[in-house]
Amino acid sequence: MIKVGVLGATGMVGQRFIEILDKHPDFDISALAASSKSAGKRYEDATTWYLENSMPESVKDIIVSETDPNAIDNNVEILFSSLPTEFAKVVEPKFGENFIVASNASAMRMVDDIPLVIPEVNPEFLDLIEVQQKNRGWNGFIVTNPNCSTIALALTLKPIHDNYNINRVHVSTMQAVSGAGYNGVPSMAIVDNLVPFISGEEEKMESETLHILGTINDGTIKDADFNLSASCNRVAVLDGHTESVFIDLDEDINILDLKNKMSNFKGLPQKLNLFSAPKNPVIVTEEENRPQPRMDRNAGNGMSITVGRLRKDKVFNNSFKYTLVGHNTVRGAAGASILNAELIVKELL
Ligand code: NAP
Repeated sequence: MIKVGVLGATGMVGQRFIEILDKHPDFDISALAASSKSAGKRYEDATTWYLENSMPESVKDIIVSETDPNAIDNNVEILFSSLPTEFAKVVEPKFGENFIVASNASAMRMVDDIPLVIPEVNPEFLDLIEVQQKNRGWNGFIVTNPNCSTIALALTLKPIHDNYNINRVHVSTMQAVSGAGYNGVPSMAIVDNLVPFISGEEEKMESETLHILGTINDGTIKDADFNLSASCNRVAVLDGHTESVFIDLDEDINILDLKNKMSNFKGLPQKLNLFSAPKNPVIVTEEENRPQPRMDRNAGNGMSITVGRLRKDKVFNNSFKYTLVGHNTVRGAAGASILNAELIVKELL
């Protein structure tokens, strides 16, 4: 068993980490850290537990530590981070000196020598770890995953990008409230309502998606060369982001071929049979009123993205559209970092 810890352990994503790690065959939760407000308390006393499954017995008595590398036992090898971005920017590099940090936070995602990885999409970006350790003289390193809405979109774009010439992508999101954290969206703002603004989200989707679908050569990344425009909305759904995706290609396509390519898409985690890898990263449904967040967010234990309403655009040539649903705190956050760590353990340790 590899000893692991969670930074931001009391938060929305931190709780997902704990739920998944508690059942993990290779990882043993040995450290939980949060803010000074929680440090020194038993995890059960420090946390407002939000998930449907109860808090695992194994973590209740763990004393929450300060988010400081000196407060974490040296035997811990991997730290999963779900810290607020501003704080992550300052402390993740301190942890990276001696620990492996698998982070959800956006702070370091677009830094030149930090890999931003979805294991099914761009596992080769892990080559940056060597560059990072050389540049910084660290024993540890940081690896990041994209933001929740980007992960769902990029997984569905990968089999398209691999097989066709994408010209342009438009995406409009309907994102769950859990994506903003426990204190993120006041109920008075979202019940009976929709908020057509999520700070920084459109910019993240537009830059991170092209980055992940890009190529790496001698430690330098070249972004994918199509145009992507995003419009992001917060809706009154607890978990599960929905996205309407509109794609223009350079050529006409056969929708059945496209469906087969998306359904049959597999990546390295499936080949390596990693513990958290879903059998199918993308599931294509034929039902006319699916996917829906309540019905489809848990597909593949929350690690599959469900695509539906895949159809040709009757107005624009060489165009098609679809709707996707993905679990934002599982595949879009904690599950993404854990899959990154599983790949690192299998390939690099
Ligand atoms: P959250 O529910 O607000 O949790 C924040 C966590 O960070 C809590 O454990 C909190 O501890 C801790 N924290 C806050 N300030 C701190 C400080 N100064 N020092 C140390 N710890 C501190 O937020 P979340 O939704 O889990 O999101 C966490 C991170 O993941 C963010 O960077 C977010 O952008 C990213 N992310 C979230 C999602 C999602 O779907 N929610 C998806 C992808 C990425 P206390 O309880 O002690 O305050």
